[in-house]
Amino acid sequence: VDAVSIFGVSIHRVTMRQAVAKCMEWIDSPLGSTCRYVVTPNVNHVVLLRKHQGLRAAYQQASLVVADGWPLVTTSQLAGDPLPERVAGSDLIPQIFSAGEKRGGVRAFLLGAESGVAAEATKRVMANWPSTNVVGNYSPPLGFEHCDQENQRIVEMVNRAQPDLLVVGLGAPKQETWLHNHFRQLEAKVAVAAGGTIDFLAG
Ligand code: UDP
Repeated sequence: VDAVSIFGVSIHRVTMRQAVAKCMEWIDSPLGSTCRYVVTPNVNHVVLLRKHQGLRAAYQQASLVVADGWPLVTTSQLAGDPLPERVAGSDLIPQIFSAGEKRGGVRAFLLGAESGVAAEATKRVMANWPSTNVVGNYSPPLGFEHCDQENQRIVEMVNRAQPDLLVVGLGAPKQETWLHNHFRQLEAKVAVAAGGTIDFLAG
């Protein structure tokens, strides 16, 4: 995919429609290929990327990089190399559910947010998209990322559920570095580092 460089960050020149189509293509591909992941930069990520080597490494392995925030889209336009539109994670996830409804529903796993919130999001998603199946949700405890055993447990939990879509809402840069460290082990078709999307889905 064609990309635009903004403050040294390479962002894919895609519309929401194209981003959804890409994710659906990966969801339709057979299990066995590596789990692809999507990152959703905003200005805060651009700042973090300067000092955080782990986040830069995570960005390098991402299959899709979309502009979550308006300021990045506006900056690209002012620089004369425009991104077509904003593709926010909190929009992308519902759009994938909607696209999935037309073909029997997507199997989703929600990783992150507080446990009551993740449970509420699970209920609401299944009420709003009747063919969508939330096959698991988990809210990792504070500091989980430093514990190998806990990380392994999460990978196993996801792999038992075999989701089409893994929504990772752990905040930046944790969600991106977690995905970068584990995507090769994950039996999910596509994962999205989606910030506060699980909170958003919970209403
Ligand atoms: N979060 C989490 N575990 C953590 C830190 C954060 O599950 O250790 C969740 C938090 O509950 C919220 C999301 O991550 O649902 C962070 O959302 P935010 O919009 O702040 O994301 P960011 O802008 O940092 O990517």
